[in-house]
Amino acid sequence: MSTPAWMEHAACATREARGLPWTTDTIETPTVLVELMQETCAGCPVRLACAAYARTATGGWWAGVDRAPEPADLLDLLDVMPLDGAA
Ligand code: SF4
Repeated sequence: MSTPAWMEHAACATREARGLPWTTDTIETPTVLVELMQETCAGCPVRLACAAYARTATGGWWAGVDRAPEPADLLDLLDVMPLDGAA
């Protein structure tokens, strides 16, 4: 699979931004680094192409958004499995 041409212009590929944790779960990433990635994406000239490319991504930071799935809400799980055993 070849690299899309627009990636040559990605702001995250610059020397200054390459070291940011683009593929680390946001929950494990210090807020200051999340903000730096958001700022980088906000000024990226290929953000729209990136967003389209990553619309089905299930991880990593793409186009200013963490694509990792939301963690399960325990209260929602209780709706599926009531404590009294009723279905
Ligand atoms: S929008 Fe963000 S993640 Fe996408 S190419 Fe630009 S800097 Fe990289």
